[in-house]
Amino acid sequence: MAADVPAPAEIDAFDSVLDAIGGTPLIRLARMAPPDGPPVYVKAEFLNPGGSVKDRAALAMVRAAERAGALSPGGLIVEGTSGNTGIGLAIVAAQLGYRLTVVVPDKTSREKTVILRAYGAEVVLTSGTVAQEDPAHVRQVARRIAEERGGWLADQYDNPANPAAHHETTGPEIWRQTRGRITHFVAGVGTGGTISGAGAYLKQVSGGRVRVLGADPDHSAYSGGDGSPYLVESIGHYLHPDTVEDQWPRSYHRDVVDHLEPIGDRESILTARRLAREEGLLLGASAGTAVAAALRLAAELSPDDLVVVVVPDSGRSYLSKYYDDDWLDSLGFPVGHPDEPTVADVV
Ligand code: PMP
Repeated sequence: MAADVPAPAEIDAFDSVLDAIGGTPLIRLARMAPPDGPPVYVKAEFLNPGGSVKDRAALAMVRAAERAGALSPGGLIVEGTSGNTGIGLAIVAAQLGYRLTVVVPDKTSREKTVILRAYGAEVVLTSGTVAQEDPAHVRQVARRIAEERGGWLADQYDNPANPAAHHETTGPEIWRQTRGRITHFVAGVGTGGTISGAGAYLKQVSGGRVRVLGADPDHSAYSGGDGSPYLVESIGHYLHPDTVEDQWPRSYHRDVVDHLEPIGDRESILTARRLAREEGLLLGASAGTAVAAALRLAAELSPDDLVVVVVPDSGRSYLSKYYDDDWLDSLGFPVGHPDEPTVADVV
């Protein structure tokens, strides 16, 4: 062996893609945060290998199922998901040798369903606007498929390993990265895993000092909306407010959240688009919702505070939606920049 070839123990590498999950950086919003306010940092979850925060929950849920004996080699994983949990599970399944079927609501971007198939997952589309008790609802379809085919249902909405993943990784990372100086934690609420797990950890470790703010689409039932459809994917709740109480996901621990801030589609999408142009961060619309809520909060805080906001995924999954002016126009939702030159201006 040549003298300059390092011995394997010295190679600076992960053993598998699963070891690259988590450990994401904090990035300061250098331009969008108010100059005389507190520093605002995004927790860059789009840098996980599957491109989203859900890699963490996917890995933790599969590992917990293996430990419990619910999943054995070559087994079938089934999940209802807006896409990102499916992508996380697809990476885990590919690496550990499981089969995967994902049920996704039909408003899920085409990019995500293409990615799922690329990883070898089976994708089943169902309605994204029916109530949770409807047999066509994502979770009901997933449950039926798992039963019929003898698969293991990951069930991120009710799986304690989902919030636990964030209690064990996301929360401690943020505490370490901010040297314990974080005062406010902001995240969107989908299953509630991120905000419940990381939020609970940050409250515990700070002796209750850290405040936890949920960012919610403004029709979402979580923050008292009527549950009518909205454009932002993957966060909020579509339930009728009268039925919300008994159907709250078990992954969402409401007592952890001090306040829920409702944010409209337009503000969420415009904030996401600003993040790309002003901060060089191309992110999904739920990141726009969370950052919009964090900026509203920051406007009321002092420079001694420190805000961390979770940005769950990349804008590359939504090029045909939030970053496509024609798509937005077709929804009667023009967001094009008036100062963008037209062909007539430049030719
Ligand atoms: N944003 C995106 C893009 C997501 O995929 C998810 C997961 N559904 C969330 C936010 C919310 O995360 P959680 O499920 O942990 O509440």
